[in-house]
Amino acid sequence: DGLLPFQHEPYFDFADPAVAEAQTAAYAQARQKYAGQTFPLLVGGQQVKGDGTLTVTNPATGEQLWHFQNATAAQLDEAVRAANEAFQSWRFSDPLQRASIFLRAAQLLRSRRMELNAVMSLENGKNWAEADGEIAECVDHCEVFARETLKWAQGKPVYPMPDEHVTTVYEPLGAVAVISPWNYPSAIPLGMALGALAAGNTVIWKPASETPLSSWLLIRLLFEAGLPRDCVQFLTGSDDVLGDPLVDHKDVRMVAFTGSREIGCRIYERAAKVQPGQKFLKRVIAEMGGKDPTVVCADADLDAAAAGIVASTFGYSGQKCSACSRVIAEASVYDTLLEKVKTLTEALKVGLPEHNAAVGPVIHQGSANRIRQYIENGKGTARLVCGGGEMEVADSGEASANYIQPTIFADVDAKDPLFQEEIFGPVLAFAKADDWRHAIDLANDSDYGLTAAFYSRDPHKLTEARRLMHVGNLYLNRKCTGALSGSHSFGGYGMSGTNAKVGGPDYLFWFLQTKTVAQKY
Ligand code: GLU
Repeated sequence: DGLLPFQHEPYFDFADPAVAEAQTAAYAQARQKYAGQTFPLLVGGQQVKGDGTLTVTNPATGEQLWHFQNATAAQLDEAVRAANEAFQSWRFSDPLQRASIFLRAAQLLRSRRMELNAVMSLENGKNWAEADGEIAECVDHCEVFARETLKWAQGKPVYPMPDEHVTTVYEPLGAVAVISPWNYPSAIPLGMALGALAAGNTVIWKPASETPLSSWLLIRLLFEAGLPRDCVQFLTGSDDVLGDPLVDHKDVRMVAFTGSREIGCRIYERAAKVQPGQKFLKRVIAEMGGKDPTVVCADADLDAAAAGIVASTFGYSGQKCSACSRVIAEASVYDTLLEKVKTLTEALKVGLPEHNAAVGPVIHQGSANRIRQYIENGKGTARLVCGGGEMEVADSGEASANYIQPTIFADVDAKDPLFQEEIFGPVLAFAKADDWRHAIDLANDSDYGLTAAFYSRDPHKLTEARRLMHVGNLYLNRKCTGALSGSHSFGGYGMSGTNAKVGGPDYLFWFLQTKTVAQKY
């Protein structure tokens, strides 16, 4: 098809002093370029002001960064109208044109990775490696969706008939609302928006209020790459104005959501209601939470397991729906594994993301308070192994309360909230299993089913894990975070969501409807 073979975007090597220096400099440049600025909404290709502004704050320091608009109800309505109007031409755009825009966007992204890393890190507190992993994923998304665009444009073969010419083709749906979280403020909305655009839909892009500049820069970059400016509407503001009303809008054809289980369920339910004047059944894809287990069998490489557990539990302070939050180990290796995980955890440096500390803050005070409550309750129901206390972080300014010690509880009962509820913070629960089959049962004892890791050297146990683990993303002998677009399509089972599988071979199907045309010879 003329495209070079696909390769995942390699990460920066921050151990190289020159690379580290360039990343440090990118923070200063990002501040110089954007600090104190106020950014507009984008509606129908125009930059517009809302009713007042919101301020974005650095969760690591409390520093006020930049400002975005509060969109009004009328502007939401105008954005939906503009998206539907733009759809009338974008739906017929040439798939080759769409693919080439995405490839050009990949090129532009490659040249701006350090700046985008810095902006994201300032907005949501990711350290260099975490931010870099996400921006590299954005490059991969562009490359993958370019290829998927061309693939789906070809339709699918059908069984032939002697007297009719029959084809099956895929057509876009309309205006798609993209509602995204702060923990992956670049790769997650980009993945959903590219899914929509690749299929020929237009987008109303609502970023999380904590992280709008990460989105704004990507949208500008897509325009620069050649995307018509009316194809993406960008709305920031309060959830009262933009949340339910966007989902309920009679002219929003589809909602693509990633975020909490609570909001995902709310969207799913609301979108089911056919509004007056609505001429379709709304489609919803929702990627929600996880309570992701790592199972460690007695025969596993315990050092590899411990390293994988610590990276996937405490990376970005556990604020990933893919994060490990439960370890289930066979009794015979339980204590040894726990000791190894504890040692690695206690060696983690907590500090400013900007200084590339291993563990940074959580997103805001509300989140920190919620996590602390789980820790306090856990002290009464399980055995605290490390963390769990107050901590001081130098230079954290007004945000010092956003830092939470990496915390491990052992001997956690399967009924304990520590074992069942998504905490979305640096808190890990250890549970002991009688044997490896019991460990699989405990791993599956969850409402969720997003990711899981399973460590063993025994081919039989690995085969059984493949068959029995109830998750959308199962990782054998590796950590459960860090899905790569195009290879590890991402999405879960159960209450983890609709299993749309972003970055996978069938993702675009969710953004399309199927037309059969039969013509008599
Ligand atoms: N795709 C990311 C990963 O595999 C997680 C995304 C999320 O936490 O929402 O780690």
